[in-house]
Amino acid sequence: MDALEIMTNLHLVAPFYQAVFSADEHKVVGYEVLGRIKYEDEYKSLGPFFHDEAIPEEYRIEVDDLLLHMALDHFITLDKQPYIFMNRDANLLMIDHGESLLNLLLKYQDKGLILNKVVIELTEHNFIGDLERLNHLITYYRTYGIKIAVDNIGKESSNFDRIGLLNPDILKIDLKELLKTTTGQAYHDVLYSISLLARKIGATLLYEDVETLFQLQYAWKNGGRYYQGYFLHKPSSELVCDEVMKEKLKEETLHFIQHEKKKLFSVYDLSEQLNIKLQGLVQKYKKVDNYNELITYLSQNLGELSFRLYVCDDYGFQQSANIIKEEEKWSLKEEYYMKNWSWRPYFLENIVRMKYNKKGILSDLYSDVESGENIRTFSYPLNEKDYLFIDIPYEFLFEHDGLL
Ligand code: CA
Repeated sequence: MDALEIMTNLHLVAPFYQAVFSADEHKVVGYEVLGRIKYEDEYKSLGPFFHDEAIPEEYRIEVDDLLLHMALDHFITLDKQPYIFMNRDANLLMIDHGESLLNLLLKYQDKGLILNKVVIELTEHNFIGDLERLNHLITYYRTYGIKIAVDNIGKESSNFDRIGLLNPDILKIDLKELLKTTTGQAYHDVLYSISLLARKIGATLLYEDVETLFQLQYAWKNGGRYYQGYFLHKPSSELVCDEVMKEKLKEETLHFIQHEKKKLFSVYDLSEQLNIKLQGLVQKYKKVDNYNELITYLSQNLGELSFRLYVCDDYGFQQSANIIKEEEKWSLKEEYYMKNWSWRPYFLENIVRMKYNKKGILSDLYSDVESGENIRTFSYPLNEKDYLFIDIPYEFLFEHDGLL
């Protein structure tokens, strides 16, 4: 259907609703309003119509407003009003500085609409106007209790600084990419960074396009408070019972928890084993004042557990060479002596933890700068001042359950 056909068949346009589920109660907390048009007895998405910038603005605004009226007329009749997520093109919204939308919402407030249940979804990356002015508008909307979500994060390049500036209440992250075979580590790293950003700016994460159990698990594991997608609920012209997925979500979450706990126990088990092993080895090797000898001795005794060892003091200055395994052969690299590592994330925090607990610590999984592989580091206090660092190779982690 082309734009003119749609404009002459507005009586066939209808709002569809897709439920948003919460991770804390496993219930429906709200609905995203989506545009559909009835065509040959089937409802077609109006998505392409709304995203086509060649279609006159006034057409798109007219259809958008029509859908919104229909949805709001429905929502104000409900006993308990769920969140209503409405998509707005930021470029169109700014044409009248958001005035007509606000007037429309205020008109419905008089009829019973609860404004702090209104969430406006904006796409940040196609906005071409002045971000400061958009930000002012958002701030103004907020004084009415209206919430702002940034839509389509992860789909196209999103700017962290722009998202930070808009300071949204909700970040909507699309998980479609996750199912592609071409999805690489970079995608996971970006999503992880977004989840850290969300935490810093106090935004809630909503994962959408959840179409499989695997995606749901990913959303749960990566700080998703809200979920949306075909796996949970297909958009429909009707609202559903709040508890439609309660049992299923609870059951699946229990599986996720069991799986994750098992992995965490594996990490703690390895950490304990390494503490015991190191205690024995270091005690056996008395001449700990010559650290190059110590790491050479340890490299022979740790086997597959390590590919790189070194010692640093509590200021991060390296007190030994690096000993590195390359093609099954260990060699000392003197040039690392006295390098400083205090600038690395968690370095000082871990030193203090080890000083306090008098025990070694196994790091999280991270990408090694030199090899590019996912590794973990075990740090171990040798005495009050110096600390041993053991880099554990990917192969070892891969071969032991729950360490990756
Ligand atoms: Ca949306």
